[in-house]
Amino acid sequence: MSDTKILTCFHCGNKTPMECVNQYKDVEVDYCYDDEIGKDVPVAEYYEEYSFYKCPVCQRISIGLNSWDTTVFHPVTGDPFEDFRFIYPNVTADMKHLPEDVKGAYESALKVKNIDHAICALSLRRTLEIMCKQKGAKGDSLYKKLKFLSDKGTIPPILDNISLIIKDLGNEAAHGDEAIFDKNIIDSMIRFTNIVLEYVYLLPRELKRIQFEMELREEEKQQKEQEKQVT
Ligand SMILES: [Zn+2]
Repeated sequence: MSDTKILTCFHCGNKTPMECVNQYKDVEVDYCYDDEIGKDVPVAEYYEEYSFYKCPVCQRISIGLNSWDTTVFHPVTGDPFEDFRFIYPNVTADMKHLPEDVKGAYESALKVKNIDHAICALSLRRTLEIMCKQKGAKGDSLYKKLKFLSDKGTIPPILDNISLIIKDLGNEAAHGDEAIFDKNIIDSMIRFTNIVLEYVYLLPRELKRIQFEMELREEEKQQKEQEKQVT
């Protein structure tokens, strides 16, 4: 319970040893009927552990969620695969599947979101610029590149209206006009960037996974039917 981890506080942006001040662990168990002993036996355990970390710099609390299960283990160490992410403050969706340079730029933006709004806006703009380059967008401005991707269907068409705001804000940031960056505008820009990144990088991956699971289920069904016909 009292372990300390070096983590980045997304309230103040400091990377610092944060003490775990409270924890809650939840477990769900899957059972399977065992013919030999004639009752249900546990076959898999799924864990979720919520940890409350206190930042020694700003004194605020962040909540981390760590999840793992007993179905997959590391082939060498034998440890389960843990998946840790912050769920409060609301950082972002699953960042681990973003390309490294996109992730780096986006993380830089999030780290300063409560410290320097102008730099946060610039970093969000950079995040989108890198994403556009990766996706082969053409155009001499971020707006035109986003429009290109929107026309191609890489990002939803509706987003291209909001992109104009991003472009304007990015330019203002570069000219050092701090005054216009209130917290609400920054939050909206982060949400916008998050939606774009999820759509471009995470959604196709998630759809592939669902398709794979459905194909697997269909195969299992056919196999069972074949087994039935044999017996
Ligand atoms: Zn802090």
